[in-house]
Amino acid sequence: MPNILDGKKIAQKLKDQLKIEIDNIKKKFDRVPVLAVIQVGNVAASSVYVKAKTKAAKEVGINVIDHHLEESTNQNDLINLINQLNNNDDVNGILVQLPLPKTINEEAVLNSIVPYKDADGFHPLNVGKLSISQKNDESLIIPCTPYGCLLLLRELKINLAGKNAVVIGRSNIVGKPMAQLLLKESCTVTTVHSKTLNIESICKNADILIVAIGKPEFVNTNWVKDGAIVIDVGINRIKINNEKSKLVGDVLFNEVKNIVSAITPVPGGVGPMTIVCLLMNTTMAFKNSNKK
Ligand code: NAP
Repeated sequence: MPNILDGKKIAQKLKDQLKIEIDNIKKKFDRVPVLAVIQVGNVAASSVYVKAKTKAAKEVGINVIDHHLEESTNQNDLINLINQLNNNDDVNGILVQLPLPKTINEEAVLNSIVPYKDADGFHPLNVGKLSISQKNDESLIIPCTPYGCLLLLRELKINLAGKNAVVIGRSNIVGKPMAQLLLKESCTVTTVHSKTLNIESICKNADILIVAIGKPEFVNTNWVKDGAIVIDVGINRIKINNEKSKLVGDVLFNEVKNIVSAITPVPGGVGPMTIVCLLMNTTMAFKNSNKK
């Protein structure tokens, strides 16, 4: 029987621990971490994510300041708001929900967040630190989704050193930072993407396979080694019939689960871990600012 990694349950355990930590922060500093969440426009999926992040933050005792801006907001106004939040000592973390409207340059906006308040870990300074820092640097702000995947792997309590890890996807928010994190764990890491030749055979060699493509149920048993650990980052909505739809991952779960040692479901795998990592990053940002 494969170990179905229950992201919801593991995230809840981490939230319980975080709540205790934030209670202690409140006693010591007489304030709690504050996260500013900015959403521009009304993309339905973004509204769902913002709602889930806000609810989870409140559960652990993080204060959320919500900035929901019009779709027509221009880049300068958005960056001006970020600058105000950068300069507000009461705000510890800033999150800009992606995607932004096409008229706004995402990179310019993310780069305008001061690195020590960058709750998502997307600022170039944090990306650079992730690549050069020591494994045990606990003050790092790590991109939430790969961080969540790593915490899921840690739940398995296996020695990751020397494992052959393959990451499918090279996005800045998932694939690339994931590869850095696994390298830090002393895995032997290969990143594959849409131009990779013989991709199936490379993946078939993986002890740990992280899949972040964005294609529903794309990875089947031909890609996966018997006994491998599979972390499915993908979130895809597919139609079941004219009226109904459901969420599936990038992995053909019902078949792949029969040959692996551990696998994450979708939903309920990586998704809840991403949210808890955002809360951990915000708390880390609070602690880092109070160390100064
Ligand atoms: P992305 O920016 O679109 O990147 C997708 C990556 O997959 C690219 O590197 C692309 O290669 C690669 N790819 C596409 N088709 C491929 C193929 N046929 N074979 C091999 N590689 C292929 O996506 P993303 O932002 O990383 O997100 C990936 C998935 O994770 C999406 O479903 C997204 O919704 C989900 N996601 C989930 C969470 C969560 O919390 N669970 C968070 C973030 C994202 P090229 O670079 O060559 O184009």
